[in-house]
Amino acid sequence: MSASYHSWGRYPYVWLTGDACQWQSDLPSALRRIVDTHGTTLPFGNGRSYGDSCMAASGHVLSMRTLDRFIEVDWAEGIIRAEAGVTLAEILSLAIPRGWFLAVTPGTKFVTLGGAIANDVHGKNHHVRGTFGNHVRCFGLVRNSQEPVVCSPSQNADLFAATIGGLGLTGIVNWAEIQLIPIQSSQIDCSVVRFDNLGEFFSLASELDPQHEYSVAWIDCLAKGDQTGRGVFIVGDHAEYGSLEVETRSRLMVPVAPPVSLINRLSLKAFNETYWRVHPAALTRKRVNYEPFFYPLDRILHWNRIYGRKGFQQYQCVIPDVEAESATRELLKNIADSGQGSFLAVLKRCGDISSPGLLSFPRPGTSLALDFPQNSRLEKDLFSRLDCIVREAGGRLYPAKDAHMPGSDFRRFYPAWEKLEALRDQSLNSRFWRRVTA
Ligand SMILES: Cc1cc2nc3c(=O)[nH]c(=O)nc-3n(C[C@H](O)[C@H](O)[C@H](O)COP(=O)(O)OP(=O)(O)OC[C@H]3O[C@@H](n4cnc5c(N)ncnc54)[C@H](O)[C@@H]3O)c2cc1C
Repeated sequence: MSASYHSWGRYPYVWLTGDACQWQSDLPSALRRIVDTHGTTLPFGNGRSYGDSCMAASGHVLSMRTLDRFIEVDWAEGIIRAEAGVTLAEILSLAIPRGWFLAVTPGTKFVTLGGAIANDVHGKNHHVRGTFGNHVRCFGLVRNSQEPVVCSPSQNADLFAATIGGLGLTGIVNWAEIQLIPIQSSQIDCSVVRFDNLGEFFSLASELDPQHEYSVAWIDCLAKGDQTGRGVFIVGDHAEYGSLEVETRSRLMVPVAPPVSLINRLSLKAFNETYWRVHPAALTRKRVNYEPFFYPLDRILHWNRIYGRKGFQQYQCVIPDVEAESATRELLKNIADSGQGSFLAVLKRCGDISSPGLLSFPRPGTSLALDFPQNSRLEKDLFSRLDCIVREAGGRLYPAKDAHMPGSDFRRFYPAWEKLEALRDQSLNSRFWRRVTA
């Protein structure tokens, strides 16, 4: 069965072809067949990576979404073993009613287990739980022309480390076993407060992060001068009582990509101003469902189409603590001056729990993430200025979101890349890897 795929940012706008296989036992032969025809391939999860790291260099992927079965579940201990194409949404719909939740979740639940491992995704609780990889107990790995192996911190430990954050290059994860965390309720006790500038963000983060499981801030990327970095700070914890319900509210959808982006200077300014003003000036507590708290964008199916036919790029960097405030200020100044950006620019302090992954993105420091409608000057003008600030501050960019990072930067940001290259299954390659290691 052949189908077409592209990355979430729709940039570079290249449709990939792909084959899927229905059974784990068919994976080795499917991999061999694709490689014989196309030279190389890449496992494809649910296409929620923004740039070209989920795009096969050959243009032909092996889709994993059809491997979506649960294999074994221990509800007493909160341990799930499932095929790699199972999505986090599917895990939550089984786990929540039984009082369990994902230890780490990214800002969308529509990612697969395999994709979450390959990018070693992080969430609003990085400061207390680290990355997704910190909660992976073991997984199966299929490499071309080799017997499938099991990887864990004590078994094939080098492949375990290289595959977590390994961008799908070390082999195909066919199943994985993860540890969940217990919850008493599907509700979140959340506190919200708006802040006037970047300095206040750092004060709030220092005060509130140690007290809460989840912490994140939305930033008005167009605010300038004294208001640079103003935004809304949000913290939360799983409520200690309440029902355990899976949210099933109906969704909205963006049916087609308009010819031009609906995000422009005017719409952005109006939204940002209103959003900031409607939030309280004093810390205000409320109880919310887990869906709007973790996955606000999942309500709108295909929201990526609002950026129009040219697509968009996300820019996500992390800056080490010592330089975080000054470099983030510089980044935001450049972005505000450019008049570009997204409704939801996200700022988050990352903690110091190290990941088992060789090429994991998070590091102690502050992460800034925001989307930009694609245009022909974006990389040459704005991104090259931002890259320079990140480089000088000793930070790095996130491959899962990237479509532009210069190879020299990648190799400097991730010095362990050569270890990954040594363990790469030579039948797997991505446009990203070819671009940054050339
Ligand atoms: C709205 C939104 C919010 C997001 N928020 C966050 C966030 O908060 N934190 C964060 O870290 N990320 C975030 N992301 C990024 C997203 O979580 C990652 O890109 C994730 O890896 C996508 O998973 P996927 O299943 O869609 O995989 P894909 O995007 O299809 O692939 C991702 C990588 O996984 C590899 N892969 C897929 N399946 C397998 C497999 N079975 N075996 C081996 N390799 C495999 C692919 O080769 C590729 O390299 C967000 C994305 C969106 C769209």
